[in-house]
Amino acid sequence: MTNLILESEILNNVLENKSITRQEIIDIYQNSIKNSNDLFLTAQNLRIKNKNNSVTFSKKAFFNIVNLCKDTCSYCTYKAEPGEEKISLMSKQQIKELLQLAKKYKCKKIPRST
Ligand code: SF4
Repeated sequence: MTNLILESEILNNVLENKSITRQEIIDIYQNSIKNSNDLFLTAQNLRIKNKNNSVTFSKKAFFNIVNLCKDTCSYCTYKAEPGEEKISLMSKQQIKELLQLAKKYKCKKIPRST
């Protein structure tokens, strides 16, 4: 239970862990276009309630050996298609240097390649 009371009944329901409908989700979005303060307050309240003020991260080194990718994420500015000028390939030396940095900073996670 939270002490935060908002004008939006839907957001108050979210804060009380009540289920909301698809249409209510759309309403939250549309209302947030005009004024997003209550949505941000709700998000902040849920974060503090569920995660407190913890910030976590995992140390990882990402080896972008080649920027070819089989996916087609519309926002991507990284990937290149075969034949494009922006294709890049890490050299063995660059890989070794990045590996040394990963070791130095004790990176434990190896992300899965796409
Ligand atoms: S490189 Fe990443 S973001 Fe880009 S298309 Fe592939 S998966 Fe998507």
